[in-house]
Amino acid sequence: MAGQQQKPKFAFFEGQIVPFADAKISVMTHALNYGTGVFGGIRAYWNEEEEQLFIFRPQDHFERFIQSASLMRISLPYSVENLVDMLAELLRAEGFRENCYIRPLAYKSTEMIGVRLHDVDDEFTMFGVPFGAYIPNEDGAHVCFSAWRRVDDNAIPARGKIVGAYANSALIKSDAILAGFDEALVLNQEGHVTEASAANIFVVRKGVVYTPPVQSDVLEGIVRRTIIDLLRNDLGMEVIERDIDRTEIYIADEIMLCGTGVQVAAITKVEHRPIGSGRMGQVTRRVRDLFFDVVTGRVEKYRDWLTPVYMPEAVR
Ligand code: PMP
Repeated sequence: MAGQQQKPKFAFFEGQIVPFADAKISVMTHALNYGTGVFGGIRAYWNEEEEQLFIFRPQDHFERFIQSASLMRISLPYSVENLVDMLAELLRAEGFRENCYIRPLAYKSTEMIGVRLHDVDDEFTMFGVPFGAYIPNEDGAHVCFSAWRRVDDNAIPARGKIVGAYANSALIKSDAILAGFDEALVLNQEGHVTEASAANIFVVRKGVVYTPPVQSDVLEGIVRRTIIDLLRNDLGMEVIERDIDRTEIYIADEIMLCGTGVQVAAITKVEHRPIGSGRMGQVTRRVRDLFFDVVTGRVEKYRDWLTPVYMPEAVR
């Protein structure tokens, strides 16, 4: 079958960890019919020396997840702390000793016909899979501008990770890939640059880094926030959140994409135009190297962004 992924051994489903094969929903499930769900995407990184699996910023991910859920009138019986504990337990059950990706999903679960958000039951599920790179050319991606526009805050809010809204991302992604590109950049209804199909964007120009503000129909990315902090605090760079015009992309010195899936990827060509030198630039390389050190637990001052899954060696 096309594009199949390795299956998890377990899933959290209807209140408990069950064998993955038992985590099934009906064809009449509301969310499957109407896109009435919200999800998250979290990574955990394996540190070989410490034999430890670190979940990256799970509290921030679950906080956003609960906010996305509330936009869709989905209420969860779990707090952020509950969800982090449940995730760690699931990963221990899987016994992962490699980088992995976790997908929490809250959804309207009633088997019924009828488009609405009220008077429909809510459910929660979560699973994890081993995961490597998300886009093939992350050292130098070739992207286009999508002919599609990003979903508008007054249509489906892009700041929530809403299942139905990812029809927009899927249209954007497939049209880009089938036209021979690695990804696409997407404009909003005002014609400003928002993000890629599933990653935020940073543009470096004359030593200053720009990224669209969260009011520009972008997802409020956790990695976006991380990269802003690393650029400002560790690379000593000025980061400005403001609208970005299409033509600023053409004359940028460097462009990078960031997100849980993409991690940090360089864009080196936009349609027929090379960006900067046409190779990954210094700012992208430095922040990317630092990002991988941070997520794998190699930077002491950022260890509090990480939640260890296994008991530390010293107390085992
Ligand atoms: N934008 C969109 C549309 C996304 O789907 C994602 C991936 N979650 C991102 C940006 C990056 O967000 P994060 O850094 O929280 O993964």
